[in-house]
Amino acid sequence: MNDQSPYLHPEYETLSREELGRLQLERLQQTLRQCMNSPFYKKRFDEMGLKPEDIRSLEDVRKLPFTTKQDLRDTYPFGMACIPLRQCVRLHSSSGTTGTPTVILHSQKDLDEWANQVARCLWMVGLRPDDVFQNSSGYGMFTGGLGFQYGAERLGMLTVPAAAGNSLRQIKFIRDFGTTAIHAVPSYVTRLHSVMVEQGVDPRKDTKLRVLAIGAEPHSEEQRRRIEQMMGVKAYNSFGMSEMCGPGVGFECQEQNGLHFWEDYYIVEIVNPETLEPVPDGEIGELVLTTLCREAMPLIRYRTRDLTRVLGRSCPCGRNHIRLDRMRGRSDDMIVLRGVNIFPIQIEKILMQFPELGNNYLITLTSEEENDFMIVEVEVANPTDDFRALQNLEKEVRRRIKDEILLTPIVKLVPKGTLPVSEGKAVRVVDKRTVYK
Ligand code: ADP
Ligand code: ZN
Repeated sequence: MNDQSPYLHPEYETLSREELGRLQLERLQQTLRQCMNSPFYKKRFDEMGLKPEDIRSLEDVRKLPFTTKQDLRDTYPFGMACIPLRQCVRLHSSSGTTGTPTVILHSQKDLDEWANQVARCLWMVGLRPDDVFQNSSGYGMFTGGLGFQYGAERLGMLTVPAAAGNSLRQIKFIRDFGTTAIHAVPSYVTRLHSVMVEQGVDPRKDTKLRVLAIGAEPHSEEQRRRIEQMMGVKAYNSFGMSEMCGPGVGFECQEQNGLHFWEDYYIVEIVNPETLEPVPDGEIGELVLTTLCREAMPLIRYRTRDLTRVLGRSCPCGRNHIRLDRMRGRSDDMIVLRGVNIFPIQIEKILMQFPELGNNYLITLTSEEENDFMIVEVEVANPTDDFRALQNLEKEVRRRIKDEILLTPIVKLVPKGTLPVSEGKAVRVVDKRTVYK
């Protein structure tokens, strides 16, 4: 490792689009041969009259079947294995945010590659073996724990498996160990910051923090800027999902201009979720990923249900891996209220533009008689008893949300610390509607 190099794996990170394409095709063909060891894919390919040799170019990817979360559930737990179980060394299960959990199996080689992916991301944002990395995300089945642990160790950093929660202990570790980088879900960072404020700790003066990796849940650009500002750090968006290993799939570089998805590890497609046809660059669609380096459980054209769009295929950082916009949320996070489609992130974006408002909010959908409506509760940043000002603020927030989503919500400003906080992924929407969902 050469600390001066901006790249951890220059041989892959700086490939031209053409070279990347050649590598992807080679790896795709290998992956398809591997898939024939799984009864699930064997059967699906046979039904379609398709053989791995039929895939001769990257465009041929479109001939391949999609894989869905339901397929993973139907084959739970080991029905998609492509190697004998005795060659698998670990399994992870999705955190089950949306229904029955699913299982992903890993061989030792899979875990090694995964650690490489994460290490590459962390290197990309300027972390080096001299850094002290505190992983303040849940461990266990949640891949953000072990995924970052092994990646940070692979890079050579002193890695602190602090896990989520216990903010006082987190702050002590940050100060005692000279932590320079943290990984956490964005909602937890804001919680950590409020505890720092309560304790009279100024992260800018009293800690060595400089880099944050934030991800695992949708968050807006406005939320990121707030986190950077209050913590005095650079905060980079980290995208991952258990089906694709976990963290390390997509990560921002220091340009902060979208998530680089590592195309030597994945084939990235954006499709229209209804027609399943590819959408043009710049247009929002569903992210579909094919693994290229996995042996225990490769996945072909996995429908992630995450909605995003292509921003570009080159970057001033010298990496030509595709850049995707921050995720809007999953198609199943989308709220349909009185026929209008709304993503919680649209509301967050508005709330974060008001300095008078805090970081925690909750959207409740409820019905009264025949009507469905939305209540947006948001904490105020600082205590105040100026009711006139609060009323005006409430009105203004309501107006701005209406401009964005075209429906008028009920806005309630609540004192700081009153809304629930979770140590894992934040719950932003509660649906209590009875009439129509
Ligand atoms: P679960 O599916 O149970 O939530 P995962 O940990 O596998 O468990 O979650 C992966 C999902 O989390 C992604 O599909 C995506 O919806 C969301 N996610 C992960 N990272 C980000 C991110 N940086 N921005 C927005 N959403 C993210
Ligand atoms: Zn870049």
